[in-house]
Parts: sequence; structure tokens; C-alpha cells
Amino acid sequence: MSNPDKNYDVVIIGGGPAGLSAGIYASRARLVSLLIERGVVGGQILNAERVENYPGFPEGISGFDLAQFMHQQATGFGLETVTDEVIGIEITEQQKVVRTSKGSYVTKAVIIASGSERQKLGVPGEAEFTGKGVSYCATCDAAFFREKTVAVVGGGNAAITEALELTKFASKVIVVHRRNQLRATKILQERAFAETKIEFLWDSVVEEIVGETFVNRIRVRNVTNGQESSLEVSGVFISVGFKPNTDYLKGIVTLDATGAVVTNDSMETGVPGIFAAGDIRSNSIRQVIAAAGDGATAAIYAERYIAG
Ligand SMILES: Cc1cc2nc3c(=O)[nH]c(=O)nc-3n(C[C@H](O)[C@H](O)[C@H](O)COP(=O)(O)OP(=O)(O)OC[C@H]3O[C@@H](n4cnc5c(N)ncnc54)[C@H](O)[C@@H]3O)c2cc1C
Repeated sequence: MSNPDKNYDVVIIGGGPAGLSAGIYASRARLVSLLIERGVVGGQILNAERVENYPGFPEGISGFDLAQFMHQQATGFGLETVTDEVIGIEITEQQKVVRTSKGSYVTKAVIIASGSERQKLGVPGEAEFTGKGVSYCATCDAAFFREKTVAVVGGGNAAITEALELTKFASKVIVVHRRNQLRATKILQERAFAETKIEFLWDSVVEEIVGETFVNRIRVRNVTNGQESSLEVSGVFISVGFKPNTDYLKGIVTLDATGAVVTNDSMETGVPGIFAAGDIRSNSIRQVIAAAGDGATAAIYAERYIAG
């Protein structure tokens, strides 16, 4: 819904932890603030069964509850939220116009917090078992696989970092990689090759993830000889890349080679009055705590920008 009569101080794009934290800080600072979310407010963390590494919850908290609390806290301070998809931003010297699929919003400052999506394998069983053995984040979920055998799919820095993280908990970690050598940096490779819990399955791709309530095996195919085999695993960590949600930002702010938004420590993008926070940022550690911190920083610097 377009509201041409209302001028906002801050428009926040994306309702994940970064956007919601920015919303808490901006609305609590009495800025007239709007958050635009194209899906369900909460972002990726809605998919987390249990979050055990966000401070303040010694027993952990479900991702859904954490997102709800953040949303409640932000709207409690006066943050407006709408369901709409941002498709572009127009910039003039005086103001910014955030274009959406339903209309447009005029604002002094914009905080981009539209996150990123994990690349999927696109194989049968992947969607069905997400959160039930299929994970895209070892930092988040490794502790659920104590003394279990798990597979990591991928061969880059992220995949090998995930595999090493998993060795702290799992009894065996099988790295399934479609090539016959890793793309990860030498130092990570050396660590992985020296780790006795890690095994490698080269030249192999996952064809299917199989289970009942939870994952219990994967079907893999060797790409050089076509041979198929089955591996008994309790978990599959998929680490084949990220895609930042920045399609609508091309030509507006600087993006890095992966498509993530480049910012400085104040979350400034280089375009005055446009900030970015959370997973969408270049080199983000892609964790709730970092997204929340980025959101707070972006809102504080947006407030200073507006004050002039
Ligand atoms: C299964 C799972 C478990 C996880 N577990 C943990 C954990 O235990 N601990 C931890 O710290 N982290 C965990 N993470 C990572 C964590 O969820 C992310 O780091 C965090 O959500 C990033 O927040 P964000 O606000 O930057 O982005 P996101 O959460 O990705 O939110 C971005 C939002 O922007 C919206 N959006 C995108 N494009 C547009 C557009 N054009 N217009 C409007 N809205 C748009 C999206 O719909 C989305 O809601 C987990 C992630 C997953 C997937």
C-alpha cells in the first residue's frame, strides 16, 4: 500500500533480525520508521528449531519466538510494518523513494536489511528434511549432532569451516565434493586433512536425501563413473554458497563479487543516507547477534545522518 502523504525518517527493507533491531533503535529514537517485509516478519531465523547462541536465553529459544519478541519490541516503540516487496530505490538530494510492488514510500534514510538466501542443492528430500537433519549452518546446528555421522556438501572455505566445526560434536564428518580437490584455502585444507574425524568423498554429488522423521541416509553419485552409493548419516550440512537478496539494488549501492553490499563500520554504503545491515553485508558472519548489532549501528548512524 502506498502512502504518499506520509514522509518517513527511516524505511527499513527486510524484517529479519537486522531489520527488526534497526526498527527497535530507530522507533525508540522517535524516528518515524517503516519496515517493509515481503514475506513473514522474522526472516531466516524463523526456520531455526532452537537458537542456543543468542545471549539472554540460557535454555535457548525457538527461532520463531525470538523473531516474535523482536517484532513485538519494535512495534511497541511505534515501528510500522507492511507486507510488500521492494523493487528499487530512487535517490534525490533531499529524499529517497523506496519503490515497491504496490506503491512507493518517501523517506530521509534507508536501511537495507534484506538478508541472503542459502543456495539449495535442489535434490529430493532437501526441503522435506530441512530442520530435520538438513542444515545450512554448522555454527547454528552442529551441537545437535553429538556422536553422530554427518555429511558436509561442498568444497569451499565455508564447507571446510563447517566440517571442522562439526568435528567438535560429530563422531564422523564426510565431506562430499563434486570435484577431486578442495577450493578452500590451503590452511583450511591442511587442518581438514589432519583431522582424523573427517573423510572425503571426491567427485561425488548428492542425488537424494532420505529418512523417515529425520534424515538417515543420502544417495550419492560419482560424477566420473556414474556409480551410485548410499551413506548412512544423521545430518547433511549443505554449504554450496549464498545469494544475497540484492537484485533490486544493482546500480544503486556498491556490491562485492558475491553480490553482497559493501559498507564501512558505520553501516554506510557510500550513498549518503543509505545503510545496510545483517547477512546482506559483505563479509557478514551470518548470525543473529551480528545482524542485530549491525541493525542497531545502522539505525544510530541513520539518526545522526537525519540530524545533519
Ligand atoms: C535454519 C537456520 C538456522 C539458523 N540458526 C541460527 C542460530 O542458531 N543462531 C544464529 O545466530 N543464526 C542462525 N541462523 C542464521 C540467521 O538466521 C541469520 O544470520 C539472520 O536471520 C540474518 O538476519 P538478517 O535480518 O540479516 O536477514 P534475514 O533473516 O535473511 O531477513 C531478511 C528479510 O528480508 C526480506 N526481504 C528480502 N528481500 C526483500 C525485498 N525485496 N523486499 C522486502 N523484504 C525483503 C526477507 O523475506 C527476509 O525476511 C540460522 C539460519 C537458518 C536458515
